Amino acid sequence: MTGRAELNLRRQIIETCLGMNRQGVNQGAAGNVSARHGDGLLITPSGLPYDSMKPADIVFLDENGRPEGECNPSSEWRFHYDILGARKDVGAVLHAHAPYCTALACLGWEIPAFHYMVAVAGGDSIRCAPYATFGSQELSDNALAALKGRKACLLANHGMICIDRDLTAVLALAVEVETLARQYCLALQLGEPIVLPAAEMRRVQEKFKTYGKQPKRK
Ligand SMILES: [Zn+2]
Repeated sequence: MTGRAELNLRRQIIETCLGMNRQGVNQGAAGNVSARHGDGLLITPSGLPYDSMKPADIVFLDENGRPEGECNPSSEWRFHYDILGARKDVGAVLHAHAPYCTALACLGWEIPAFHYMVAVAGGDSIRCAPYATFGSQELSDNALAALKGRKACLLANHGMICIDRDLTAVLALAVEVETLARQYCLALQLGEPIVLPAAEMRRVQEKFKTYGKQPKRK
């Protein structure tokens, strides 16, 4: 392990794991988190509880996906590696078995534009990637396809993936996506949710480009 920046990033990965459990996005050690680092990435180890995880337990994968360090990388390292390789706009990847996302994913359902906030994931739906065995190349390929032009997807009979520029942004997005999944499940219990038209979702996406950006103070 070298340098203060890397140590901070390792600490931030652990904080993100603890944060996703605290905020109901994940339970136990089912989820995993990675962040781009140099030509490779840093990723949570396989099967360690987050509250006993130390910075040195975080695994570095080089540009060829080869691990360095004492621990084995998360069994889902393949899609973290493939996503960070294919999406240069992405700096962090979060995978969780978020309860409401997973409930929908167990039906193989996507989340349609039942709420305008679905646009935070970059489009007018949050797709559901077809099922494949955990840790497999097929799962990684399916996830990458479902994430095309998007920042989140569900994984059939499994969970969800969120991707964003950094760890802070990806955790916030995961909380938002799980909230949307919960709201969609609630709405489905009352009747058939009304889906917003594509043109309206495009308008919302345009507005999101400037939303939350404060003008520079002189
Ligand atoms: Zn999983």
